[in-house]
Amino acid sequence: MTGDDAGPVTGGCLCGAVRFRLDARPDWISYCHCRDCRKASGAPVVVFVGAAGAGVSFEGKAEPAVHRSSPEVRRSFCPRCGSPIAYEDAGLPGMIYFFLGAFDEPESFPPRHHAFESQRLPWLGIDDGLPRHARFSATRSGS
Ligand SMILES: [Zn+2]
Ligand SMILES: [Zn+2]
Repeated sequence: MTGDDAGPVTGGCLCGAVRFRLDARPDWISYCHCRDCRKASGAPVVVFVGAAGAGVSFEGKAEPAVHRSSPEVRRSFCPRCGSPIAYEDAGLPGMIYFFLGAFDEPESFPPRHHAFESQRLPWLGIDDGLPRHARFSATRSGS
């Protein structure tokens, strides 16, 4: 399969209990260098793939567990293996931002920009020429 294939896009956690499917191919893909995402993932940077929530179905054996890292933000993860799954933000209604690594074919989703460049680790150089935003790379309501 390649990134040009039509049809559903699938992913899930490390143990396979949480599975999800997107009806449409997502096209919003961004690095996030913020400290909260670093803490939530354990990785120096994460990549999010944004999808319209209406086209997302969860179909595994387990429903994702949710941690609210701030009043507006829901971070979901597998209740069995702890793999991070997605991020939802009240300021970005209707969207679910999946962790790139949760997809079955992460190679299909090259990032398009960098968010929270201001919090990027100084030794993490990614020389890709993509646009860099000091904070959010998507326009949030109410911020
Ligand atoms: Zn799991
Ligand atoms: Zn972040």
